[in-house]
Amino acid sequence: MTLPIRWKVIIATLLVLACGLLIARTLAIRSFEQQEIVRSEKILEARASLIAYGLQPFLMQPGSLSATPRLQAAVRDLGARALTRVTLIAPDGRVLADSAVPDNTLSAVENHLARTEIQQAVATGRGRDVRRSQTTGERTLYLALGLPTQNQTTPAVFLRLGLLMTTFDREVGKFHKDLALTFGIAFLIAVALSVGLAHSITKPLSDIAIAARQLAGGDHEVHIRTGSRDEVGLLADTLNHMTNQLKAKINELSEDRAQLLTVLTSMVEGVMVLDCKGRVLQVNPALEGMFDVTRLDARARLYSDIFRHPQLDTLVSTVLANRVNEEDEILLQPSGRCLHIEASVTHCDRENDACMVLVFHDITELRRLENIRKDFVANVSHELRTPLTSIKGYIEALRDGGKDDPTTSAKFLDIILKQSDRLNLILEDLLQLSRIESGQILFKREPLDIQRGIERTLAMIKPLADKKGHRLVTVIEDDLPAVLGDEDRLMQVFSNLLDNAVKYTPENGTITVAARPVSGDPERPSIMTTVELSVSDTGIGIPERDHPRIFERFYRVDKARSRELGGTGLGLAIVKHIVEGLGGQVWVEANVPTGTRFVVRLPI
Ligand code: ADP
Repeated sequence: MTLPIRWKVIIATLLVLACGLLIARTLAIRSFEQQEIVRSEKILEARASLIAYGLQPFLMQPGSLSATPRLQAAVRDLGARALTRVTLIAPDGRVLADSAVPDNTLSAVENHLARTEIQQAVATGRGRDVRRSQTTGERTLYLALGLPTQNQTTPAVFLRLGLLMTTFDREVGKFHKDLALTFGIAFLIAVALSVGLAHSITKPLSDIAIAARQLAGGDHEVHIRTGSRDEVGLLADTLNHMTNQLKAKINELSEDRAQLLTVLTSMVEGVMVLDCKGRVLQVNPALEGMFDVTRLDARARLYSDIFRHPQLDTLVSTVLANRVNEEDEILLQPSGRCLHIEASVTHCDRENDACMVLVFHDITELRRLENIRKDFVANVSHELRTPLTSIKGYIEALRDGGKDDPTTSAKFLDIILKQSDRLNLILEDLLQLSRIESGQILFKREPLDIQRGIERTLAMIKPLADKKGHRLVTVIEDDLPAVLGDEDRLMQVFSNLLDNAVKYTPENGTITVAARPVSGDPERPSIMTTVELSVSDTGIGIPERDHPRIFERFYRVDKARSRELGGTGLGLAIVKHIVEGLGGQVWVEANVPTGTRFVVRLPI
């Protein structure tokens, strides 16, 4: 586990401090020891001079010094007075006298020539050493001086003084303790200071780290507060600035994205965005509806895996290969929808970047209307040409001699009159339709008594029905509410429907006119909002496949029969326009067991 930066700072500070203290302690102790030794050395030197002076009588004697009890007694006496160990050593290393050694064991004392201080004294006349004495076992400071005897310049004997270091060691020990206490207190203060220092350094840093984590987690409202004006403060300011900029950029991008999504979502056209590899980056809801796919399914997949349409495949691969805009029209199966596609390319070559945008316009309705228009023009021409050709033919026949025969001319003129009436009828119906469509006919909005309207129309149609032996039945519920409408137009609707029922029902059929209040809202079936009127017959019926087109202009199930029966093919188109103009609905259904049932619903 990695240590937090605070601990790193504390540990590093304390380590440096501990090292410093250790070095300081070593240096202090060493300097203290050296000072003490120099001081002790000076004392020993002074004492050595005095002792040398005390030994003058022995040194002045002719001949070399030898270990005598008198010398030993003098040395012990001098050693006791000077509070030091005094040793006299012959140049060959023999101990001649030693204040710390009993007289009887003196001869057994080891040769001292190899002792460091003696070696130094042999070489320079003066030697010094600090060590544990082999004789006394105590740590001792030794000072050795070469003493010349009479008339000799080279040392004839070495005077060695040994000062016990017990006091010195005690002093050093005390110094150690004082130093340890001082340094311990200093260390504790340093710990407290380094913790404080680490906190002051790392707190802003950890604040910044927390803020950065929140920022990474998507919280863009983060603001780092730090009082420091150093590099950390600068870092915090920079981060705050960065956060603000990031927030502004994200907001800007979110707004752009939201706008783009709103545009894409509200577009009626389907939109698909592909990258240069043909992978889907974006589809809008309109396209989801067109191809029955979901955005989640489509995203990041190859378009050819989702939209299996050879013509679309060809278009996309051509556009991707040639990098030129193209357009095409495709037909979707089995829905039969016709789509116009505009494919435009960008100059982007990177994966996951928009490279191609396809816009799908659903032109099914446009094509249908176009077809209706074409049919209409063809139908109008045809419908008008038929009576005109007939009229022209009979006029020519009259001119070519037919007028000379009164019976033929009367018959021909009858036909001409009939065809003129038919032409007139077609033109009147067409004009009426066009006036309704262009809004020239304004529908009145007054409360109408449906029952009265039905009865009046039935009375008009009755002679025709009687002629074919039809039975007219009315099923009208009592207390039928009034509907809002235009009486003349409504009677035209009834008469067109009843006229058709009479026309397209063979002799002795039954025509039923019914009216009842119904609810127009399936969620509130108890509230009656419309009146439903229906005209049912037991006639030839209308095949199911013709139901959707039966209200189109000139659409007839059986053209020849309709014409024979004097129909213009415009009656139902007029019915539909009037009913919708009054805010109602009309549709056709099969009557059970035979015949046709037209249903009209008008708002109460
Ligand atoms: P038309 O003047 O030819 O009757 P319409 O617009 O009134 O024109 O009717 C269109 C076509 O609908 C008719 O040609 C006929 O084929 C069919 N149709 C209308 N009403 C009925 C009905 N009650 N029974 C059977 N067919 C009908």
